[in-house]
Amino acid sequence: MGEHQIESEGDVSKTSSNENELYEAIIIGAGAAGIGVAISLVHVGIENFLVVDRDTVGSSFASWPEETRFITPSFPSNSIGMLDLNSIAIGVSPAFSMRVEHPTGIEYAEHLRSLAKFFELNVRDKTNITNIEKNEGIFYLKTDTKTFQAKNVIWAAGEYQSPSIDVFAGSELCLHTSNVKKYGDLMGDDFLIIGGYESGIDAAYHLAKQNKRVRVFDMNCPWGESTSDPSVALSTFSFERMRDECFEKNVELFAETPVKSVTFKEETFELKTEDGQVFQSKVKPLLASGFEGSHKHVSHLFEQREDGFPLLNEQDESTIVPGMFLCGPSVRHDNHIFCFIYKYRQRFGIVAQAIASSLDLPTDEFVEAYRSWGMYLDDLSCCGQECLTC
Ligand SMILES: Cc1cc2nc3c(=O)[nH]c(=O)nc-3n(C[C@H](O)[C@H](O)[C@H](O)COP(=O)(O)OP(=O)(O)OC[C@H]3O[C@@H](n4cnc5c(N)ncnc54)[C@H](O)[C@@H]3O)c2cc1C
Repeated sequence: MGEHQIESEGDVSKTSSNENELYEAIIIGAGAAGIGVAISLVHVGIENFLVVDRDTVGSSFASWPEETRFITPSFPSNSIGMLDLNSIAIGVSPAFSMRVEHPTGIEYAEHLRSLAKFFELNVRDKTNITNIEKNEGIFYLKTDTKTFQAKNVIWAAGEYQSPSIDVFAGSELCLHTSNVKKYGDLMGDDFLIIGGYESGIDAAYHLAKQNKRVRVFDMNCPWGESTSDPSVALSTFSFERMRDECFEKNVELFAETPVKSVTFKEETFELKTEDGQVFQSKVKPLLASGFEGSHKHVSHLFEQREDGFPLLNEQDESTIVPGMFLCGPSVRHDNHIFCFIYKYRQRFGIVAQAIASSLDLPTDEFVEAYRSWGMYLDDLSCCGQECLTC
């Protein structure tokens, strides 16, 4: 397993696939999780696998609002054995290849495409999986026109394309932040934002930069949490931006203020809070309410936890359908939440080893290398609140 510092950018090189072929594994989703776990499969020695995406590599990142940047910083720290926080593979550093500390979504999508090309991943674009069934040990993955077959399936279809929209009465009248192309293009001067975690603060910052008035409502107080875990509290990147003069001048924060409803009458949006306050604006309110997650589409293949997330065994595999794996930010174990890249990448090696072992491939060397890079986390008891828990 050598060092791969990716410098070039370009399109995915391979797009070939044979519909009648029985793949060792099919990965659904070519985002950070899908491409990352695909590289782990390469490293463990699995060759006959396919990555499918309904759009193309990195498409969720490519559709972020234009101004939005990574909150986790990239730094070329691999040379001292510490993987770049935004890296999805051993030997890869977005900081090294892009010379950017906080990449935009477009930049990170290009980075993922360059990785797919470098590792010669077999990626099939424009392939929307609409149904998965398992019959006599084989998975059948259907699109509207084709059926693929595999011994193992890795669901890595992410969260971004499944936003939480139905959150209070009238929330459908709002604009979800995942549907904003560019904050600078939004018309109006007076914005109401529902949700004050990373996306809400990001929206508020970019609007405040344009000298717009912004009011942010959150049922909790993300900017007041004392934990250092960015799954709960805001990131240092956001705290820095909240100290910017434009933010302090233009943004008003309403903590512990759940929104009850939004209505639209006489060209005016009216927002009511649970505690009886009323706010008005001519501008469509922004919904920064987060994401439901695509795992809802495969709920028939997993038992559900109490919080609705898939119940997984120690190898991130379904407890009821062997060979069905989950990768990415929806992975949950007890109260551990793997919602950032530097968290969920630690489970790629676990999944790759499980599949390789089922195919009788040797994995000792692979596990040793992955463990030494912090890419093989099998003992969750070692992780305290600051590293994994929300
Ligand atoms: C605004 C914002 C900022 C963020 N900042 C950070 C950050 O700074 N650091 C960090 O670590 N994380 C950050 N995150 C979280 C990070 O973006 C996600 O963890 C990451 O995108 C998840 O990657 P993924 O591969 O699971 O999903 P995605 O990147 O969404 O990839 C899923 C892929 O699956 C495809 N797909 C979906 N359904 C199907 C289907 N049925 N058939 C075929 N293909 C399908 C999609 O087209 C998509 O390409 C941020 C998220 C947001 C929204």
